[in-house]
Amino acid sequence: MPELPEVETVRRTLLPHCEGLSVKKVIIRRANLRWPFPANLQELLEGRVLLSIKRRAKYLLFEFEHGQLIIHLGMSGVLKMVNLNTPIGKHDHFDLQLELADFCLRLNDTRRFGAVLWANKDEMHPLLSRLGPEPLADEFNAIMLYGYSHTRQIAIKSLIMDSHIVVGVGNIYANEALFHANIHPETPAKNLSEADCARLVAAIKHILAQAIKQGGTTLKDYRNGEGKPGYFQQELFVYGRRGKPCLVCNTTLIETRLGQRTTVFCSSCQKAPPLSFPRRRESSS
Ligand SMILES: [Zn+2]
Repeated sequence: MPELPEVETVRRTLLPHCEGLSVKKVIIRRANLRWPFPANLQELLEGRVLLSIKRRAKYLLFEFEHGQLIIHLGMSGVLKMVNLNTPIGKHDHFDLQLELADFCLRLNDTRRFGAVLWANKDEMHPLLSRLGPEPLADEFNAIMLYGYSHTRQIAIKSLIMDSHIVVGVGNIYANEALFHANIHPETPAKNLSEADCARLVAAIKHILAQAIKQGGTTLKDYRNGEGKPGYFQQELFVYGRRGKPCLVCNTTLIETRLGQRTTVFCSSCQKAPPLSFPRRRESSS
């Protein structure tokens, strides 16, 4: 599944090729992906200039003067530039042809959990309206995380993967950040000190920035806007390394399930959370 660094890499790859060009043609080959395509998309886009491509969480935002075309890659979506003569594949659902370009942007999505949506200028799409801050923005900091965590019993890994708190910390990067911060993934959020939160925030920012620098992580079929893979998988310390030795201390890495997500950690570098024993009620007599 493309996570934040992969979506950001797609954005950075496409932007210099597409910015400032106007839309020549919109081709939609089925009625819906996860949700229906906007009914009047051709009318909305054809002849309009693509001003920029931005990103919010894992949504690509194609900015026009009168609104935003929103694309989400879902579980398996690949949005890339293809030569205009490239034959249409079975799961090629959407094309955006630009004037003066010898390529078109083509969205391929085998599992169809992706989405193509529209929001008018000055309106925020409901899917974007309740999102927490971007992980690389200053608003996501230790004080803010501690504010959310110090009263919550939920496992810290689940908390940092909650997009209402911070966006874009998907499973791979949550595993890696907790390892780098020496925090056991099952630690109840409220057991974290401010210093733990500071280490964790720094680790999340570091891991995501590094992953973007490497062009994302390619586990199965992720490709950037030019069809190239990412390389961050070569720098993973725990994710996908169950049963292998910890790269820091050589202890065998353990895999567990947490919130239905695969979680890998080092029991030596990431100490188990302190057990909380039930306390006997004080007698009133
Ligand atoms: Zn270790």
